[in-house]
Amino acid sequence: MAQQKITKQSDDFSQWYIDTVLQAGMADYAPVKGCMVIKPYGYAVWEHMQQALDGMFKATGHVNAYFPLFIPESFLKKEAEHVEGFAPECAVVTHGGGKPLEEPYVVRPTSETVIWSMYAKWIDSHRDLPILINQWANVVRWEMRTRLFLRTTEFLWQEGHTAHATEQEAAEEVAKILDIYADFAENYAAVPVLKGRKTDKEKFAGALYTTCVEALMKDKRALQWGTSHHLGQNFAKAFNVTFQTESGGRDLVWATSWGVSTRMIGGLIMVHGDDKGLRLPPKLAPHQVVIVPIYYSDEERQTVLQKVDALTAELKGDVRVKVDDRANYKPGWKFNEWEMKGVPLRLEIGPRDVAENQAVVARRDKGPKEKQTISLNGIKPTILDLLADIQRGLYEDALKFREENTFQANGYDEFKEILDNKLGFIYAHWCGNRACEQAVQDETKATIRCIPFNQPEEAGQCVYCGKPSEMRVPFAKAY
Ligand SMILES: [Zn+2]
Repeated sequence: MAQQKITKQSDDFSQWYIDTVLQAGMADYAPVKGCMVIKPYGYAVWEHMQQALDGMFKATGHVNAYFPLFIPESFLKKEAEHVEGFAPECAVVTHGGGKPLEEPYVVRPTSETVIWSMYAKWIDSHRDLPILINQWANVVRWEMRTRLFLRTTEFLWQEGHTAHATEQEAAEEVAKILDIYADFAENYAAVPVLKGRKTDKEKFAGALYTTCVEALMKDKRALQWGTSHHLGQNFAKAFNVTFQTESGGRDLVWATSWGVSTRMIGGLIMVHGDDKGLRLPPKLAPHQVVIVPIYYSDEERQTVLQKVDALTAELKGDVRVKVDDRANYKPGWKFNEWEMKGVPLRLEIGPRDVAENQAVVARRDKGPKEKQTISLNGIKPTILDLLADIQRGLYEDALKFREENTFQANGYDEFKEILDNKLGFIYAHWCGNRACEQAVQDETKATIRCIPFNQPEEAGQCVYCGKPSEMRVPFAKAY
């Protein structure tokens, strides 16, 4: 198969993204418009994401369960803001078994309503609380403009739905989960994130408030990486979920919900990728090391593969290794292939290397000129060190990129000038008024990504209306 060329990032970033996703075998377009097939290589990345997050959820007391795909349409209507937010993008089932249904079913766009209808049955006393349930599932939101991984009609995610006795306990849960999302983004995906609270305009439909982690992509647009919502007592009211308090009274239950999705894969690609294709952080890479044996005769082949087998056996269990011994492809072709697929380390072993007990190692995060030769004696710790170094390096590169593309604007003209010429995160003063936020969005397409938790107070004037403001917030054009 001929290798196709990937469009350069600087020529057309969107086309680069599509080329990379398709050619690296991450996903493909499905027969239904707006849907995607997650191919094995992309799904393997998702599995590593799932494993890491699932471990973190369980370590903090959460358990997994599964709720149905179909939700009675009337459930969605019980929470006014929620239905207003989600109804326009719902897929609705009207027929089943060849007959019209008495009540249509919505294909879940998110599961608060069905889960809280069950919590009404399960919660009666303070002794039944808290409930800390997570679900790994698919959801459907009918999208008009779609993009592989970033916005698709059906996507995979996890959604946590917890129930608590007090507002404070729910608030602590919201913060705990946001910390997990940030930890995962930075320490597994090597993606630096801003942590903060969404403005009221941007919060989840039905929430008291929404917190989020936000990342900057290589085209200098922001991506919402994950969200954690305090739902107050809104869903308890809608589904009449009360509990007997310790003092004997009855109170409505407090709720949170939180989620991250396959969208993170799109983020991973757009934070780390380069003109050659993917660059995957070792902790999430399906193959951390690819070994390409090099030989020109059957005799050499036997000698080299014997060494490769011994090496693979040594690394097994600690390093995810792929041996590419396909006879019908040349080494150079394989090098390009695995670089495009973003494998962090490549080992090349030929007959001379076998004789010298060494291998040539190429790092995906460095250029081809930086190939080095390493001894096969005690190679495992060397490989583990290199992988840790790549993991750290990718994070540092991404952080440096974000810092280089973070600006301050002190007036609306300067703000628009930066948006037109540079993009990135633009910190500007905002008075807190929704009308200003909306006007900026209508006029420039930039949105307030969050109100950062660690943002220092600073007296200033709203970038739009000039009224007093107490701190800057990051604006950006976003996915
Ligand atoms: Zn204002």
